[in-house]
Amino acid sequence: MSAVGVLALQGGVAEHISILEQLGCDVKEIRTPDELESISALILPGGESTTLISLLNRWELTSPLRSMGEDGFPIFGTCAGAVLLSKEIDEKEHEVSQNSLGLADVKAVRNYFGRQTCSFLKSIKVTGLAEPFPGVFIRAPLLLPLSDTVEVLSSVEDGPVFLRQDNLWLSSFHPELTTDCRIHRLFLESQGILKGSG
Ligand code: GLN
Repeated sequence: MSAVGVLALQGGVAEHISILEQLGCDVKEIRTPDELESISALILPGGESTTLISLLNRWELTSPLRSMGEDGFPIFGTCAGAVLLSKEIDEKEHEVSQNSLGLADVKAVRNYFGRQTCSFLKSIKVTGLAEPFPGVFIRAPLLLPLSDTVEVLSSVEDGPVFLRQDNLWLSSFHPELTTDCRIHRLFLESQGILKGSG
């Protein structure tokens, strides 16, 4: 099995690596286009999407990542990572236009759930998991599907927080900030990277 990449420019990199290692994956930190070779999937961690967008541009990763995503390469973006994957990005109070990878037919409403001090933990039901998952929400976006090829895997009262469009997975919450590996496992199994447990 080739390594799973974690974009390592900013944000919750170490936490994703730890979960992937618990699942028995080899992990590769990604900072340059060359390092994108020989990985089987990529995680885009949370952090600050405006910063991540400018770092992706500075490290010349935007265009190779966009091509890989268009060609079906598995990419999972958590929180700010999900914002990067979305074709449309809005702020809750005013519309902003921002360059991003723009791969998934999703509108991300940035900071929908409020400021850092409004962070919350919520038990959420997720398609494909028998038991609820502890969702950690930190300045999280709402993720609105723009096409019926986007599957909603989890929603809260305000709307969808976990989406899948084929090879592209987007979560508004932070599965890496728990000790629970099930969301990462679900993604990797769906892409044929990890074998199913049952
Ligand atoms: N609100 C941040 C953004 O839009 C994301 C926060 C996070 O990743 N925890 O960039």
